[in-house]
Amino acid sequence: MTPRVRFAPSPTGYFHVGSARTSLFNWLFARRHGGAFVLRIEDTDTERNRDEWRQGILDALTWLGLNWDEGPTLQSANLGDHHAAVEALWEGGYLYACDCTREQIDARSAATGRPGYDGHCRTRELPRGPSTALRFRMPDEGATTIEDLVRGTVTFPHEAIGDFVVMRSSGVVLYALANLVDDRSARITHVIRGEDLLPTTPRQVLMWEALNHCASQERVDLPAYAHLPMLVNEQRKKLSKRKDPVALESYRDQGYLPEAMVNYLALLGWSPRGDEIADRARLIDEFDLAEVSRSPAFFDVKKLTHINAEYLRAMTSDAFAHACRPWVDPDPAAWRPRAAPPWAPEHFDADVFSRAVPLIQTRVTTLAEVPAMVAFLFGDEVAFDEDAVAAVLADDPLGRVVLAVAIERFAEVDFTAASLHDALVELGEGVGLPLRRAQAPVRVAVTGTRVGPPLFESLELLGRQRTLDRLRAALARVS
Ligand code: GLU
Repeated sequence: MTPRVRFAPSPTGYFHVGSARTSLFNWLFARRHGGAFVLRIEDTDTERNRDEWRQGILDALTWLGLNWDEGPTLQSANLGDHHAAVEALWEGGYLYACDCTREQIDARSAATGRPGYDGHCRTRELPRGPSTALRFRMPDEGATTIEDLVRGTVTFPHEAIGDFVVMRSSGVVLYALANLVDDRSARITHVIRGEDLLPTTPRQVLMWEALNHCASQERVDLPAYAHLPMLVNEQRKKLSKRKDPVALESYRDQGYLPEAMVNYLALLGWSPRGDEIADRARLIDEFDLAEVSRSPAFFDVKKLTHINAEYLRAMTSDAFAHACRPWVDPDPAAWRPRAAPPWAPEHFDADVFSRAVPLIQTRVTTLAEVPAMVAFLFGDEVAFDEDAVAAVLADDPLGRVVLAVAIERFAEVDFTAASLHDALVELGEGVGLPLRRAQAPVRVAVTGTRVGPPLFESLELLGRQRTLDRLRAALARVS
């Protein structure tokens, strides 16, 4: 049997990194087993849905390269099926009408000390009406056991569940039923989703099996379940939408590569054999639900950043330059909604930039770091780090000597990285400074900071005139 999996996000907020992990594991499973990856948008919570979030789901999956084989279907298009399932369960005697209000239920719970619904209407045989909800009649005893592909055997005693609402008096069908009806219609064979949905599963299994006994419903095999471990932050607490950076798009906008993100997400609860840096082909080849861990997975931005840097380093220069375009391009349409680069767009020179690529590619961990690193090439004014200026120029007379001599020497030498290097070595020897210390005042004068791409190559790219202008300006600034 060809496996059929689905990713069923609700468009109620930014696309969460946890959703990204769930979608990836479904996609890997489908690709590994030659199955179908179905996209269904669960949009029945009309109060919390927004069109932009629905679009955000499609954009996120597209950015990650998780192509879907069917859909996107909308849950709201299947309301007829959901109601038909309610009718079938009613006909089959699995439901009963209940007119208890929330206040009445709470008052009885408070009196008995037992939480949840007490089965008050179970035997009242109320007719259905505009003020009755429909509840599922739980089996009196026993338990539902699930062989979860990740969590193993999980048993839910029925007495702990209580008769639950399937359709509100308003006619709204509850999400847990809508979700499984859609899985039945789509012939889903494996439900791979977050662990937060594990408690819903026994109710879904019971309804699924009940539907299989209803004359008006087709018999559909129960899917296998796999509940993926929760994502936690550094404090080992569930990732919080408010406190933790969980929106996938913020990683895209900070210059993480989709390939690095896919690789990192795959490590959240699973790992390939051998090296953790694994491209898509290897992930597909090795992915195995049975190897997914039950322990919470730490969403570690530092590790993600490290992996991103590895992917950036492994790119060809051309691919890297191309990936940088949204951060440096003169056309605002390319970088919006990100911040504008720190130079006047018309000063950007694509040729100079591509020559700078080899100097910066191995020194950035995200693409968002690129503009600051090349700003000295395109900016009119040097943005000075005042602490650096103080340390190597203002408070250091030798630093000022280095600048004064460099202005003379750099006016004459062949303006290539190699000659500039030799000139500065010689200059340093003349004033008794090792190269490292002789470089610092020059670097600060020209780029404004003490860290950056290799100095001599940078000077060569900047050119003689601009280099000399900056050395003179910096000297004047501190004299
Ligand atoms: N729509 C649910 C969610 O966004 C997923 C339900 C499921 O995968 O079964 O959490």
